[in-house]
Amino acid sequence: MSIIPKDSIEQIPEFDFHVSGVCNFMNLIAKGLQNPKARVPFDARSKLLGDRSTYIGASAATGCLYKAYMDVFEKKPINSKQVFVFERGHQLEEMIRKGLNGLGYRELASVSHYNAKYKKCVIHQEEVQGMGDFEFIKAHIDFVFVNSQELVIKEIKSSASIPTQPYLSHVYQALIQMWLLKEKYPDRKVRASVVYHNWDTGDSEDYPIEYNITLLNTALNNALNLWTAFFEQNIPAPERQLYCSKCSHKNTCPALCLQSDNDLPQDLLVLVGRLADFKSAEKTMKKLKDNFLQLMMSSGLQRAKIGEYLLEVCNGTNGSKYLKIT
Ligand code: SF4
Repeated sequence: MSIIPKDSIEQIPEFDFHVSGVCNFMNLIAKGLQNPKARVPFDARSKLLGDRSTYIGASAATGCLYKAYMDVFEKKPINSKQVFVFERGHQLEEMIRKGLNGLGYRELASVSHYNAKYKKCVIHQEEVQGMGDFEFIKAHIDFVFVNSQELVIKEIKSSASIPTQPYLSHVYQALIQMWLLKEKYPDRKVRASVVYHNWDTGDSEDYPIEYNITLLNTALNNALNLWTAFFEQNIPAPERQLYCSKCSHKNTCPALCLQSDNDLPQDLLVLVGRLADFKSAEKTMKKLKDNFLQLMMSSGLQRAKIGEYLLEVCNGTNGSKYLKIT
């Protein structure tokens, strides 16, 4: 027998699931993940990407073409760190598949398998290919939500920080995906958005992408240039990007290595060395601050005076905390 009177149960305010800093899409996924029966569906088909020298991927033609070319023709051995970074992106998609399963979504092998009797349908990694002169472009779209009138693309990005607007390279990628999908299924409306998710903080943002013919033409032109470079075995010029510091070709990239170390003036070499020392000290400092913050929070301390320094736990954006030292 319940000891709570029925009236008081009805007065309990409805649980508000929305969490500040988390977009509606990822809120929904979190809801699905709370279903104890949620599971990652079995793959209905092979999702291998195949030989990437035989086509241009939608993401390859959206940034530095030198990198895209070298990724295919001069593969660098992948180190453990990079393996973990790649796996994180893969695991994020698997988590979303599980959340969608928990929400009752049926995963189809392709848009062409859609049947109106299914209420909630999604495709993971829909493969679309260009036609005619653009047969060389292929896209493997992370998620396509499908109903009888509309196809909604969600391109998922695992990101250490949430950008204030979608990166241009991701806009290009989404536009190519929209275009290819519309070419394949002309009777349906097509929408797209790019979802950024931070594993560490749980923050996310979902940016809708407007169809833009000028940007699409630029992206298609890039793809054509890369395809021509593949054929002519002619390495395209490098173009600096926001991700240069993480690029696996940065040590040999002509755009970053204008001169060898030996050609640099001695003063500059000394300064570079000092900057590198400073960078590593900065990392150690951050780790120490994070550890101290955790220690203060677990002990319930808001402030601590150590010698002449005052340490304070402060509120950051999106409910995060940081340590202030004055
Ligand atoms: S370091 Fe930057 S410019 Fe050089 S190949 Fe990589 S992305 Fe391109």
